[in-house]
Amino acid sequence: MTTTLIKNGTIVTGSDIYPADLLIARGCIASITPHGALDDRGAEVIDATDRMVMPGGIDAHTHLDMPFMGTTSSDDFETGTRAAAFGGTTCLIDFVIPQKGKPMREALGQWQAKAEGKAIFDYGFHMCIVEWTEDTQAELDSMVREGITSFKLFTDYPGVFLIDDGAIFRALRWARDHGALIQVHAVNGSATAVLIEEAAALGKLDPVYHGLCRPARLEGESTSRMVDLAEVAEAPVYIVHLTCAEALKAVREGRRRGVRVYAETCPHYLYLNHDDMDRPDFEGAKYICNPPIRPAWHADELWRGLRSGDLQTVATDHCPFNFKGQKEMGRGDFRKIPNGLPGVETRVPLMYKGVVDGRINLSRFVELVSTNPAKLFGLYPRKGAVVVGADADLVLWNPDKVTDLSAECLHMRVDHSIYEGATVQGGVDKVLVRGKVVVDGDQFLGQPGEGRYLRRGPIDPARV
Ligand SMILES: [Zn+2]
Repeated sequence: MTTTLIKNGTIVTGSDIYPADLLIARGCIASITPHGALDDRGAEVIDATDRMVMPGGIDAHTHLDMPFMGTTSSDDFETGTRAAAFGGTTCLIDFVIPQKGKPMREALGQWQAKAEGKAIFDYGFHMCIVEWTEDTQAELDSMVREGITSFKLFTDYPGVFLIDDGAIFRALRWARDHGALIQVHAVNGSATAVLIEEAAALGKLDPVYHGLCRPARLEGESTSRMVDLAEVAEAPVYIVHLTCAEALKAVREGRRRGVRVYAETCPHYLYLNHDDMDRPDFEGAKYICNPPIRPAWHADELWRGLRSGDLQTVATDHCPFNFKGQKEMGRGDFRKIPNGLPGVETRVPLMYKGVVDGRINLSRFVELVSTNPAKLFGLYPRKGAVVVGADADLVLWNPDKVTDLSAECLHMRVDHSIYEGATVQGGVDKVLVRGKVVVDGDQFLGQPGEGRYLRRGPIDPARV
C-alpha cells in the first residue's frame, strides 16, 4: 500500500491553524501528528515547509456543459474540473436542469453522461425544479435515493424556469420533512421582464441595460419573500448568488428572527462593478450575468456579510461563454447575450485576497470556500475537513506566490478573463485529490474520469 506523508506544513481549517504532518492512505487522511512524529520510511514524502495545508475548495454552484440561450457553456466536466483544480478546488456541485414535461431522472441521466469519464475530481448534483406536477413529489423522493438532497427553484426567467410561490412553498414543506435543502434564484423576473420590454422598445439595447433593467430592489424583494415563505414553512432555505445590500438585509433580518436562511455570494460580485457592463466595443458583454454585477458599494456590504456570518458560502456560478461566437450573439441586443461568467479557477485565489486585504481571517476563508459548502450540502466531514477518515482532497497553498488572473495564465476553456491583467497574492502549489497529486505547480497530473459521483446524504443546515 502506498502511503503519502505531507510533512512540515501548517494545517488551516475552518476552525484551527496548527503545525502538523498528515499521513494519507487509501485516498483518505490516516493520521494527523506533530511535525516529525511519524516514521516516513516507505511513504512518498511531500515537503510542505512554508505551505498552508487546507481542505480542497468546494464550488457548490457550477454550470458545466450547459445548454443555455441557444448555446452551451464552454467548459465541460473535463476542462472545468481541471481548471478548478489549478485554482485549488477539488469538488463541485453542478445543476441538473430538466425540461418541462420531462422527468428529472432523464435529465439526471444526461448530466451523469456529461460528467462520467471526464471529471478529474468528485462531483455532486443539485436538481432544478422547473414545474410542479402531480408526479413531482415522487420524483423528489427518488432523487433523494439517488443522492441528490438539494433542489433549486427560480423566481426569475418567466416562461422558462419561473415557478410560482405555491410550488416553492410546497417544495419547502417537502424539503423540511426529507432532510433536503431548497435553493432559490431570487430575483423578481416578472417585474424585470417589464423593464426589459420597456428598454427594448426605446432601443436601449447596449449591454449595460441588462443591469439597469434588473434593479437590486427586485432581488431584495424576492429574497425577502423567500425568507418569509421559509419561515412560515418552517424549512431551511438557501439563496444562491446573492449580489446586493437589499437581499443581504432580508437574509440578515430573517436570521435574526431565527429563520434558517443561508446565502452564497460569488467573487464577481465582490470584485467587479456595474460600470464593467458599460465597457466600450461591446466588451461589456463579458460581464453579463444574472443577477447582474452591482454598483461598487454593494461589495462592501457583501464583505461585511461574509465577516458577520450572514453569508456562509462563496461559489462561482461558473458558466463561461466565449466572447467570440457566444457573447457576440448579443451584439446590438443585450437580451441575446448568453448570461454567465467564468470563475471556477479564480474563486479560491480571489477569496484569499480577502485575507491579504484584511477583510476576512484565514479560517473564515477556508470556511467560506470549503467547509461551509460541505456542511450545507451533505458532504461534511468527508469533504471540507482535515480530519482522520476524510477524503485526502487537499491544497498546499503558497502565501508567497503571485497568481496572474489573465486569460493566458488560466486554464478555463474560454477566450477571455474578466480579471485580465490583475494579479493576486497567494496561490496553489500542489493539489491532491483522494491522496493523489493532480496539480504540481504548472503541471497537471490528474486523469479524466477519476472523479466519482457523490451521493449526498440528508442535509443538516443547523451546523452552519
Ligand atoms: Zn447558476
